Amino acid sequence: MKHLILIKYGELTTKKANRKVFINMLAKNIQMQLRNYEIKIQKDRVRMYIEVEERYIKEVAEILTHIFGIHSIVICYPVDTNTDKIKEKVLELLKEVSFHTFKVATKRADKSFPIPSMEFNNVIGGHVLKNIDCKVDVHDPDIILQIEIRKEGTYIYTDEIQGIGGYPVGIQGKGMLMLSGGIDSPVAGYMALKRGVDIECLYFESPPHTSLEAKNKVIKLASILNQYSGSIKVHVVPFTKIQEAIYKNVPDSYIITIMRRIMYRIAEQYGKKRKCKIIINGESIGQVASQTLTSMSVINEVTNMPVIRPVACLDKLEIIEIAKKIGTYETSILPFEDCCTIFLPKHPVIHPELNRAKEYESYFDYESLIDECICNIEVVTDFCKNYEDLL
Ligand code: ATP
Ligand code: MG
Repeated sequence: MKHLILIKYGELTTKKANRKVFINMLAKNIQMQLRNYEIKIQKDRVRMYIEVEERYIKEVAEILTHIFGIHSIVICYPVDTNTDKIKEKVLELLKEVSFHTFKVATKRADKSFPIPSMEFNNVIGGHVLKNIDCKVDVHDPDIILQIEIRKEGTYIYTDEIQGIGGYPVGIQGKGMLMLSGGIDSPVAGYMALKRGVDIECLYFESPPHTSLEAKNKVIKLASILNQYSGSIKVHVVPFTKIQEAIYKNVPDSYIITIMRRIMYRIAEQYGKKRKCKIIINGESIGQVASQTLTSMSVINEVTNMPVIRPVACLDKLEIIEIAKKIGTYETSILPFEDCCTIFLPKHPVIHPELNRAKEYESYFDYESLIDECICNIEVVTDFCKNYEDLL
């Protein structure tokens, strides 16, 4: 008998009409993330079972803790359907857990098993009380000992590993994440993934002003995010010519405003090509001059695509806390310069005016530069496995 991992669904259980779609998407994502293992998935309306070989059980459970749409993960231990064997296995499992009170919950899926569930609860409960110093509490026990009697054998389980919740990635379609090497945008990407948005990443690089290390840092961040997705791509935009043209033609204080308007235009045009419905970025209100509300509205003016800013209303410390939790923080703080910081003017405008921005843009032919830039985007996909080696 193989080991089973039982999965309880996350928020998707509340979506009645779309339930099937959600469950199928989750199963597909699990299948993809576990493509290197031999597994079998059985699913119903309330849970999913994954059959897996015993030696991989811990590894697989760990991968499942990164998959959105999972509320909890339970490792079920198999045993022959034989009362003595079940008693023995129950004690073995309970000795590894610390608890004072418990209850037994038997589910007799195989009705050919002769002892009714309630009676079996008493048989097993009595055996536990005889061998372990503890009490029964049916209302609020420290642990619930679950015994599931099925045709192929019996499964016993106690504790649940918490999943990360959210919606299965992809259920909402795709977004284009503007991914820099900073702290904020990877967190923004994670939060979008959590709500079921699959992401592709867009990184603007300006060699030789920005280094190969800066690019590898972004690829590494994308690889870390990929643990939560499985299908992330990084699109590297050759941004040097545009940045140099901006630098040459636009007054200092508006360099960042114009640069970001052009980034948005590229994100929209290329995002549409990649079938993305939204742009996602790591802007946070008031954090820098280009993120005041006035700046945001002047920059946002160039696109009709919805721009989602998941960290817009978080404090930097809150963003850092999430970055640490999801594993991007240590990489984000590596000191390689980004194109935004290299060309940073001394006094960027805090309250830009739209007509001025438009006027400065008319000083150079940004449209053909954008076309050329989009034609030369490099796509990186093969980072998935070895991101540890990138830097
Ligand atoms: P982050 O910490 O994510 O770098 P930030 O606080 O440094 O953000 P900005 O540099 O103003 O802020 O950038 C705001 C957002 O614009 C970033 O979160 C990211 O989404 C996007 N962005 C900035 N630079 C780049 C880049 N080189 N490539 C892709 N996106 C970028
Ligand atoms: Mg940045």
